[in-house]
Amino acid sequence: MSAALNPTLEPIYEEVLRRNAGETEFHQAVREVLDSLGAVIARHPEYADARVIERICEPERQIIFRVPWVDDAGTVQINRGFRVEFNSALGPFKGGLRFHPSVYLGIIKFLGFEQVFKNALTGLPIGGGKGGSDFDPKGRSDLEIMRFCQSFMNELYRHLGEYTDVPAGDIGVGGREIGYLFGQYKRITNRYESGVLTGKGLGWGGSQVRKEATGYGTVYFVDEMLRGNGHSFDGSKVIVSGSGNVAIYAIEKVHELGGTVIACSDSSGYVVEETGIDLNLLKEVKEVRRGRISEYAELRGSSARYATEGSIWQVPCDVALPSATQNEINAEDAQFLVKGGCRAVGEGANMPTTPEAVKVLTDAGVLFAPGKAANAGGVATSALEMQQNASRDSWTFDYTEQRLAEIMRSIYDRCAETADAYGTPGNLVLGANASAFIQVADAMLALGVV
Ligand code: NDP
Repeated sequence: MSAALNPTLEPIYEEVLRRNAGETEFHQAVREVLDSLGAVIARHPEYADARVIERICEPERQIIFRVPWVDDAGTVQINRGFRVEFNSALGPFKGGLRFHPSVYLGIIKFLGFEQVFKNALTGLPIGGGKGGSDFDPKGRSDLEIMRFCQSFMNELYRHLGEYTDVPAGDIGVGGREIGYLFGQYKRITNRYESGVLTGKGLGWGGSQVRKEATGYGTVYFVDEMLRGNGHSFDGSKVIVSGSGNVAIYAIEKVHELGGTVIACSDSSGYVVEETGIDLNLLKEVKEVRRGRISEYAELRGSSARYATEGSIWQVPCDVALPSATQNEINAEDAQFLVKGGCRAVGEGANMPTTPEAVKVLTDAGVLFAPGKAANAGGVATSALEMQQNASRDSWTFDYTEQRLAEIMRSIYDRCAETADAYGTPGNLVLGANASAFIQVADAMLALGVV
């Protein structure tokens, strides 16, 4: 575990534990930020005096609701829906929806808390929130997905609006689900309010590059970090965990920059292919057939090895991009990465590396890019989608990608400069947390006690 907290922060953390009992992922996310804030409040006692940290740790609003729907067999199903509107000091609440059986309040609160800081780092006018449901989309027909999304929106719509709260996708929520959600919002409100959801289809208000943005953005960020330390993706062996939206487009950008992605995964197993993952086939299996990574391995034949034992992190690599889910790299996995010669880890997913694993990596000198900075390209491009919707315009792929690349470079510079300013060069965790916190805290001070 990390070192003791600053004496001003310790009681704040104790109170977070007491008020949010059992929400372990939320505790972990808060602790990671508080670990970075000791130096900040030493320089800026005004934040502690105005109790800004306590306020930042308490969501502005938490909504929990029943989502009843009827499956194809005619059976009534009941799920639980969530939307945590965490902080709107910088703009409307903004953050994705996750549909996964592991979802409960603690997961949504950890994601919403992270989102507040991530969104600040983009430099764009967006607050932070997150939502979702314990609904499991796996194995459900299109019509079941549609009925679920409609029922979910029947409650959620009253809390949304382009100036209020703007959801997007996350695990289990892609273009298909955003379409059904937007359709139901449009029907209930009788308004074509494009800016109320992002991740829309290109023909009906979506932005070029949104689908690719989180994966591409992560790779841009890690590329900056590698170059800042005399390395690059060119010629490197890379592991990308997961095979969903973030993973697929991270793989695409790594290949464009001259690296080779030699392994990826899903929750059933992982595939290793030393000559490089065949991205076209992976997209066909995952995006079109909605199949498993084992099917990809079967179609590739002897060039690919599929494994369900051990861990993807046991495969030696130069760069690791965890892009599946939270806490997927533990201390033991981190030791494998160090032993295998890994020189950089960039978080495509939210909080995929446990605190113990971060310590193993950074103690060994592995460069580390925290998710709230490295994977901010998705929400940044969502904010660009909102800009296009507001001006009833649509930009080209090249222009939008150029904006994304500039944003990722500026996030990297901001984190690196803040780390330097606090006397911890290269510590991008501290750089990201301190820089984002100061921006949100200053806005909260300016807006008064609200
Ligand atoms: P998807 O649902 O598209 O893909 C998730 C992928 O991760 C799937 O391949 C899934 O496999 C796999 N996965 C889930 N759990 C595990 C596990 N325990 N072990 C191995 N693989 C697993 O989600 P996204 O790609 O959108 O999101 C991935 C991560 O990135 C999440 O942490 C999300 O919060 C974060 N993120 C996403 C953004 C976005 O724009 N989409 C923006 C910023 C962060 P299976 O199919 O078997 O479940």
